[in-house]
Amino acid sequence: MNSDLLAGKVVLITGASSGIGAAAAGVFCREGAAVVLAARREDRLAELTGQLRAKGAEAEYVVCDVTDPEDAARAVECAVSGFGRLDGAFNNAGVGGDRTPLHLMSDDVYDTVMDVNVRGVWNCLRHEIAAMLRHGGGAIVNNSSVGGLVAIPAAAPYVAAKHAVVGLTRAAADEYATEGIRVNAVAPGTTRSEITEDWFRRNPGLEQMVNSMTPQGRTAAPEEIAAAAAWLLSDHCPFLTGTVLPVDGGFVNR
Ligand code: NDP
Repeated sequence: MNSDLLAGKVVLITGASSGIGAAAAGVFCREGAAVVLAARREDRLAELTGQLRAKGAEAEYVVCDVTDPEDAARAVECAVSGFGRLDGAFNNAGVGGDRTPLHLMSDDVYDTVMDVNVRGVWNCLRHEIAAMLRHGGGAIVNNSSVGGLVAIPAAAPYVAAKHAVVGLTRAAADEYATEGIRVNAVAPGTTRSEITEDWFRRNPGLEQMVNSMTPQGRTAAPEEIAAAAAWLLSDHCPFLTGTVLPVDGGFVNR
């Protein structure tokens, strides 16, 4: 894909050090965006930023723990000070947590999953919206999950957190609809990344089970999720806000 969907736009990507976020960095740059990559692992961010610049893209990175409101503010500030404004944001940072029956799940897993996946989106949304209001609007895509639309087995905190991301998406879309800010979410099905590699390693048979529950019979490449996010961030869908787009090979449709 290379159709200049995001030409001239400045886009922040959280969780850009691996998986879907790293793929989004490549896809958004190919679509013409200047990107700011945010995550905790500086070595990964520096390497990816170097690769993007070597291909002629405009890219910066900022070390950021999305659970810290000051880090979230710094990530947005990095875009504004580096490129003059923030046009788009892909709030993608997240953790999977354990695959364990609800009554055996530890409180620590619940706390971490809610902190990163919900408060992290909350922290980023607030600063992104404030910056976009100052510069005439923008578009935001939150990364939920099919687990934000339906239950998935043995992942109660993750399912609760991703439903909350859908709630935040709808609330923010509603509040800023007349201020030039669109807020949507993608709901990926199982996508090949560090989260799923870890789940599949610790749960033999899980990958085959997921594939059998997915009409297309396979997992997604991270670039397939990034492509949907790029379109939602682009000017090609100006009347689209408050939606949750499953990118799932038909999983929630079944
Ligand atoms: P990865 O583990 O590859 O990526 C997760 C990213 O989030 C990493 O870049 C990680 O970077 C970052 N991250 C984690 N915690 C924090 C934090 N506290 N602050 C900042 N960044 C953080 O997995 P995916 O690419 O699969 O996950 C990306 C998103 O996609 C998640 O929100 C996930 O829930 C969602 N998703 C994934 C699916 C899948 O099947 N893979 C399906 C549905 C949704 P670092 O460690 O450097 O901070």
